[in-house]
Amino acid sequence: MARYIESGCRLCRRENLKLFLKGDRCYSDKCAFERRSYPPGQHGQGRSKFSSYGVQLREKQKVKRMYGLVEKQFRNFFAKAERQKGITGTNLLILLERRLDNMIYRLGFANSRNEARQLVQHNHFNINGRKVNIPSYLVKIGDVIELREKSQKSAKVNDSLEGVARRGVPSWLELDKEHYRGRILALPSREDLTMPIKEQLIVELYSK
Ligand code: SF4
Repeated sequence: MARYIESGCRLCRRENLKLFLKGDRCYSDKCAFERRSYPPGQHGQGRSKFSSYGVQLREKQKVKRMYGLVEKQFRNFFAKAERQKGITGTNLLILLERRLDNMIYRLGFANSRNEARQLVQHNHFNINGRKVNIPSYLVKIGDVIELREKSQKSAKVNDSLEGVARRGVPSWLELDKEHYRGRILALPSREDLTMPIKEQLIVELYSK
């Protein structure tokens, strides 16, 4: 599967937003965006105005990069959102939130979505008692995500769970840290998703 190899920090600077791609580093004073909050490259500090297409494109890139997807995967999610009832932009964000790698990250088993994706691919989780290793798996209300017994000694996962107190767990999820288990209590509403995203711009971009 194709993946971006550009430095995560460059992506944050490009999108003018902290995308939290590097775990603990994002909360430290080593964060590149905190130190240089302007786009990367020779002309980074000179560029300021975008056309309306440019604004829409940047919004799409921002969300795509936040969830660590490539264009084809993101398009597929958009197509799925369009087929659902309701507001396409909101549907898109909720579908992205339902990805298993995102849920692992939100529950605090991983420090970033990228790390969560690797954990899922390496068979560390069960859903409702069955092994699932597909990062794009869409969870449902009531699903129980559990770190498999042999993975519970992982220093990486335990370190990450230590950081939960700082990051917090969203209200639509429940974490049972002692038993390495999380439950989906509800799906998030648009109001629950507080990242600065203007999803309507993405809908406009793909509607051209
Ligand atoms: Fe972005 Fe800062 Fe994290 Fe780098 S350290 S990925 S700039 S939030």
